[in-house]
Amino acid sequence: MNRQQEYVLRTIEERDIRFVRLWFTDILGTLKSVAVAPAELEQAFTEGIGIDGSVIEGFTRVYEADMVVQPDADTFQVLPWRERTARMFCDIHMPDGTPAPTDSRHILRRALDAAGQEGFTFYTHPEIEFYLFKEPYEPAVGPVPVDQAGYFDHVARGDGHDFRRGAIEMLEQMGISVEFSHHEGGPGQQEIDLRYADALSMADNIMTFRTVVREVALHEKAFATFMPKPLALHPGSGMHTHVSLFEGDANAFYEPGASYELSTTGRRFMAGVLAHSREICAVTNQWVNSYKRLWGGGEAPAYVCWGHNNRSALARVPMYSIGKGHSRRIEVRSIDAACNPYLTYAVILASGLRGIKEGYDLPPEAEDDVWALTDGERRALGIDPLPQSLGEAVAVMEDSDLVAEVLGEQVFDFYLRNKWQEWGEYRSQVTRFELDRYLLHL
Ligand code: GLU
Ligand code: MG
Ligand code: MG
Repeated sequence: MNRQQEYVLRTIEERDIRFVRLWFTDILGTLKSVAVAPAELEQAFTEGIGIDGSVIEGFTRVYEADMVVQPDADTFQVLPWRERTARMFCDIHMPDGTPAPTDSRHILRRALDAAGQEGFTFYTHPEIEFYLFKEPYEPAVGPVPVDQAGYFDHVARGDGHDFRRGAIEMLEQMGISVEFSHHEGGPGQQEIDLRYADALSMADNIMTFRTVVREVALHEKAFATFMPKPLALHPGSGMHTHVSLFEGDANAFYEPGASYELSTTGRRFMAGVLAHSREICAVTNQWVNSYKRLWGGGEAPAYVCWGHNNRSALARVPMYSIGKGHSRRIEVRSIDAACNPYLTYAVILASGLRGIKEGYDLPPEAEDDVWALTDGERRALGIDPLPQSLGEAVAVMEDSDLVAEVLGEQVFDFYLRNKWQEWGEYRSQVTRFELDRYLLHL
């Protein structure tokens, strides 16, 4: 055992921890948990704990169901909302000790290693949006937001206020720093921005964040949802992510004197993200409902272009980081709040790296509000639309060497099959829209 593992065992004893939850994430981004007694931990650290992977979405083919979860001692935290309980994120192995090809953390780590080969470390900083609705949810009534406030509104004694404070305190107790939080544009919609971290820690933080937010909401007699577009007439919930590459201590995107202080590396990275944004869309926006957000207005991007102050653009160079040197970064705005953050950060990084390695040229900046242009005007400017549905996104992904390489063959196949099935089930529904529109008229 190493020193960190020994520290964990000591802390468990000192703080009288009775349950240790071992956390990992399935391919679709759902958090899974196995609780072990502290007495089992030494073995968990050295040999891992066996699980039946066949019950986990995307994990195994049935004939190779045995897998091993091994806790990462660096992620040990005591849970603030549950007495004498702690958690650690896990890596998943095959019985022979090799990393499981279906482990989301492993997929991200592999992408980070590829960046490491080029001398880069990848940092991310997400702006996480979500809605708070009143509990209990009654399907016949629909979701009822906890307030009627809007963007940056200060709601006097509002539920959102207490909620954000409670959530931030709990996140900080778990070692996750919050930079910023405010009411978002929709009724009951909130945003909390996490302080930047390396992409693997951040993906773990996002999984923790979702759990904390749901726990705190329940205390406020509300429930939180990261569904990309819960209300047709209000903005969806994005997870805009600010990204940067560092070479040692230096931000590789920063070049004083360059346009927007963005280096050639930064421009090529952004060119890569744009060029591959259509084929990675089924990962960054993985649900049928994700496309209701992308095509439903509310400042979500629907077209492949970049800008500086342009909120209709998919990627943006935020002006408030100009003049702050090493905080130079690119904001990727397509990602939604219900993605698998490990896979999403892996495909974004791989797209950007390909742009750097192949020396992609950044297209000219989109200065107009691209939503207001006609299709013809957008075509003339070379601005493509993102896929308009999950079906289209999966069809585009099917031909992507980049996504196949990042996810690995087994996950790529599972993902396509799973998403075709979701699309097929959706397509066969007769919706409320159709009944309202056609039943009495046709
Ligand atoms: N909620 C918007 C989205 O879905 C973003 C609003 C904002 O600019 O923060 O992407
Ligand atoms: Mg926002
Ligand atoms: Mg933003």
